[in-house]
Amino acid sequence: MSKKSKKKQTPLMRQYFDIKEKHPGTILLFRVGDFYETFSDDAELISKELGITLTKRNNGGDQTPLAGFPYHSLDTYLPKLVKRGYRVAICEQTEDPDSAKKAGRKVVQREVTEITTPGVTMSEKLLDHKRNNFIASIHWAGGTAGIAFSDISTGEFALSQVSKGELDSMLQSIQPSEVLLQKKYKNKLPDEVARYNITYIEDWVYQGDYGYNLLTDHFSTHSLKGFGVEELEIAHQAAGSLLHYMQETQKSSLGHLRRLYAYENTDYMALDSSTKRNLELTTAMQEGGTDGTLVSILDDTVTAMGGRLLRKWIMRPLKKVKQIQKRLEAVDWLYKEHDRRHELREDLGQIGDLERLISRISVGRTNARDLKQLQLSLAQIPRVKTQIAQSDNELLDSVNDRLKLMVDVQERIERALVEDPPASIRDGGIFADGFDEDLDELRDIARNGKDYIAKIKNDLAKETGISSLKIGYNKVFGYYIEVTNTHKDKVPEHFIRKQTLVNSERYITPELKEVEEKVLSSEEKSKTLEGELFEELRLYVAEFADDIQQIAAALAQLDCLQCFAEVSFRNNYVRPEVNDKDVVDVKKGRHPVVEKTLPAGEPFIPNDIYLDNSEYQILMITGPNMAGKSIILRQTGLLVLMAQLGCFVPAKEATIGLVDKIFTRVGASDNLAAGESTFLVEMNEAANILNNATPKSLILLDEVGRGTSTFDGLSIAWALSEYLHNKPEVAAKTLFATHYHELNELESRYERIKNFNIKVKEHDGKVIFMRKLVRGGTDHSYGIQVANMAGLPQVVIERAKEILSNLESHSLDVSHDGNGAIKKTAAKKQAAKKTTQEVQNQEQIPQMTLFDTHVDPRIETVMD
Ligand code: ADP
Repeated sequence: MSKKSKKKQTPLMRQYFDIKEKHPGTILLFRVGDFYETFSDDAELISKELGITLTKRNNGGDQTPLAGFPYHSLDTYLPKLVKRGYRVAICEQTEDPDSAKKAGRKVVQREVTEITTPGVTMSEKLLDHKRNNFIASIHWAGGTAGIAFSDISTGEFALSQVSKGELDSMLQSIQPSEVLLQKKYKNKLPDEVARYNITYIEDWVYQGDYGYNLLTDHFSTHSLKGFGVEELEIAHQAAGSLLHYMQETQKSSLGHLRRLYAYENTDYMALDSSTKRNLELTTAMQEGGTDGTLVSILDDTVTAMGGRLLRKWIMRPLKKVKQIQKRLEAVDWLYKEHDRRHELREDLGQIGDLERLISRISVGRTNARDLKQLQLSLAQIPRVKTQIAQSDNELLDSVNDRLKLMVDVQERIERALVEDPPASIRDGGIFADGFDEDLDELRDIARNGKDYIAKIKNDLAKETGISSLKIGYNKVFGYYIEVTNTHKDKVPEHFIRKQTLVNSERYITPELKEVEEKVLSSEEKSKTLEGELFEELRLYVAEFADDIQQIAAALAQLDCLQCFAEVSFRNNYVRPEVNDKDVVDVKKGRHPVVEKTLPAGEPFIPNDIYLDNSEYQILMITGPNMAGKSIILRQTGLLVLMAQLGCFVPAKEATIGLVDKIFTRVGASDNLAAGESTFLVEMNEAANILNNATPKSLILLDEVGRGTSTFDGLSIAWALSEYLHNKPEVAAKTLFATHYHELNELESRYERIKNFNIKVKEHDGKVIFMRKLVRGGTDHSYGIQVANMAGLPQVVIERAKEILSNLESHSLDVSHDGNGAIKKTAAKKQAAKKTTQEVQNQEQIPQMTLFDTHVDPRIETVMD
């Protein structure tokens, strides 16, 4: 806006554009009387986004686009805008028009009182109670990323330093709804953050000591040593910029951010970002919702904070046997104590979202209902304690110890508030009678004003002995006492004469004036007083934010433990044995999600899995498409993960030797949504696995090499298996699903590679899926049979058979060149060499599979 055009503007518009300029990148909702208005580009935008009519407003000769809505619709429209990723500044009138007039101002003063953004909001309309709403800030220095994240609605505030490679997985765990970056990255956005909602912050906020000083000021400490994060220097700038941004947007001191903690990954199982995605822990691959995810099965928490903690647990399974045992023991106790567990669930279910309640109370965006809910929630604690008091279990005992009763806070709120207080804190009616003497008196006067005057009249009549004394009211001097001339001489000295009439005199007294003042303004005053009392009570409760946050944390933990017990009981899970040995041994394991989602009447077929580091390190699993290869891979990953969460597992028996990392590589065709070169993604993921796996890891490889030509793919898969087998540093337990049955050849060459297949039967040209994992390889992929069942025209099928048999007679020779590579030669059919002991009388030369088919779900499945 140029100076010249600014001059021509109306004062209101000038004020608007001045404020707008100070809040770049936000939609400015500008309060004008009973409306929130937007102008210019904002008006066009919100009219489109919210379907609000766009009009025009005269602005010193020009017409400025205008769109607005009544102030009471803010709760409807604000969440819509923020959910779509916009940052919205709310600009209120901070004085009334009379004061503006008196001060000679042409427009009332206005100020931005709050900025709501996707990552910074307290609005219940925007928050999902079972999910944290994190905002993160990232600061890079060399190869290290300093990252800080916070959920302003719960008071959580953490920081960490990770290598560039780990950042992606970290962000995947946090799933921030907004990420802050220095402005300098605007034109060269790092890949790891490209998919997030970015807000750019002035570069200086990330420089020098600014961030560090802001943090120590906020926590009133000299250093960050007390939080154990002093050393994480690169992350200080990230945390500082985050605090800066939260303070700027909230316009408040954020007293509920009480501590900063280091978010470390060393104590947890490492799950890279593709594993989190592929195992569908909290987000489904297809629609991005929660249907079909592990969390959808495991979450039976009954409190909001429990729900949020469960998601964090799932993203970070434990890695220390002792910690896992502790959780398992607590779950075991709760599992067996059915009655107590049911009662505990009832009691916990009555507890509100303590974390968000205390956050709102701390920053002052609260009302009496929040306080009441806090009180009622705290009142449940003794019952909760009783349920777990008898456990004799270390973890439950520690929960019990941390559940303070907070009797003072409860009593104070209980005494103060009415049973069912109103939502507004401006209209009174919040405090109970008897809580505050002044308030009682004011209310008394307001309710019984006339009675009160009558009482004064009677008192005065008695005191003066003038029985005919009256109290009247007129507009000029309010309440007055009227005494007829007959009794004039009995009038006491402190009566002040105001008016003389023919037969009487009119007086006032200081006491009467006082009462009058009270009567006339008592209602207004009692509202104001209630406001003050509320603020006092709020501040009193806010003092206990720390305690309440700790109680919330203990309750969240308890809720997750009872949830595991409940889910395990209901779904028929067993307690796994978790140890430090190198064996994963699962008897009759099931996929926790698929077993719940199969069509009615279709049973889930359990399978055994045995892996170790001495004989059964790599299981080469073959079988036609749709046989159940992916399911078995994922089920094994999920089972190990669940055991390390401290949850029971879907199996008849399970022994889990601790796993430090789970890697997954899922077939290219399953991952097309990303729209990237799938083969490149596949190879990136494979490289990551080969570079980071350890003998303690679990690797799930599904159809590696599918994204390229068959020869290339087979060669890569072959070489990869050899590498995992031969290199001791990366010799992880591996499940390798493939329909390259040529890979069965590896078993005879390497001692720790074993062939398995998912059994199918062929009957009348049809494939019958048995869903059973059995020892041994397969000799062909049934591609043509499956295609036949899917309804491909018969001519195509016949022709395919012909081509196949042709190809088979010119098949691939895979011979070892001594360096782990394979040679590709079109050789003549070679002499038979057994692929596995189990597969008899078959051509031994690896064969090409040229058909990948979509399969009709009508294909039969039978039980073994
Ligand atoms: P593949 O990876 O071999 O192509 P999937 O693992 O995707 O096959 O399995 C295909 C379908 O078969 C699954 O979606 C599921 O409906 C069914 N299925 C797989 N394993 C089982 C099982 N153990 N019991 C019952 N149904 C199964």
